[in-house]
Amino acid sequence: HHIVEVKDLRHVYPDGTEALRGVSFRITHGESVAIIGANGAGKSTLLLHLNGYLATSQGAIRIGDFPLTPATLPEIRRTVGMVFQDPDDQLFMPTVYDDVAFGPLNLGLVGADLEERVREALTRVGAEHLRDKPPYRLSGGEKKRVAIATVLAMSPDILVMDEPTSGLDPFARRQLLALLKDFRHTRIFTSHDLDMVLELCERTIVLHEGEVRADGPTVEIFQDE
Ligand code: ADP
Ligand code: ADP
Repeated sequence: HHIVEVKDLRHVYPDGTEALRGVSFRITHGESVAIIGANGAGKSTLLLHLNGYLATSQGAIRIGDFPLTPATLPEIRRTVGMVFQDPDDQLFMPTVYDDVAFGPLNLGLVGADLEERVREALTRVGAEHLRDKPPYRLSGGEKKRVAIATVLAMSPDILVMDEPTSGLDPFARRQLLALLKDFRHTRIFTSHDLDMVLELCERTIVLHEGEVRADGPTVEIFQDE
């Protein structure tokens, strides 16, 4: 049983740009998958479909037991945790604590349950000591970790990240790789960081001009590219 199924996906932007066409793949629970390709290949467009930020022009997406439709969107957004490339798009509260608590609060958590959920998420990313700081005061690597904590706090079954290591110094990058390795659920990343892809993703999907050019074990894909 596949946790993600993308079938014959097409996306046309309002200006007529056909960013994706005939994209199909399935992902098994627990898989770690990289999506690579040149700038403009369609990677971001594809990710933005996985939790309904963009509506498909044609084709279908299924997440777990739910076909992605306007009616299932709330359920899908609980299942798919999306970490944007720029953490500033994700952090907007006065403190780190408030940002990480925001999602669980919306799920109805309060009191000790909420405290525990936030503490756990911050501990996972090694950011407990940052909880009372304003996010804008953090370094790039710290912001990235807090952005990931906001997503982990929702307990997503699928973690989707756009260029997770971009903008990180070597130490922050190392820390992030260790964190993502520990995450046992399904992971989907776009990346230009081929060393990260080799280390973290057993499978790689290559997009080229909006189409799937290759899909297979990362080591084989890298030999062929
Ligand atoms: P990648 O993430 O691989 O760099 P994108 O998904 O960002 O690729 O872009 C795929 C194609 O869609 C490119 O041709 C890009 O110029 C185009 N595109 C992206 N966003 C928009 C938009 N909002 N309006 C029109 N065209 C867009
Ligand atoms: P479970 O432990 O049943 O998989 P949890 O809700 O406890 O579910 O965990 C949610 C996700 O967070 C799991 O995929 C888990 O592997 C992941 N996780 C646990 N520890 C870490 C860590 N140190 N860094 C990143 N992710 C982690």
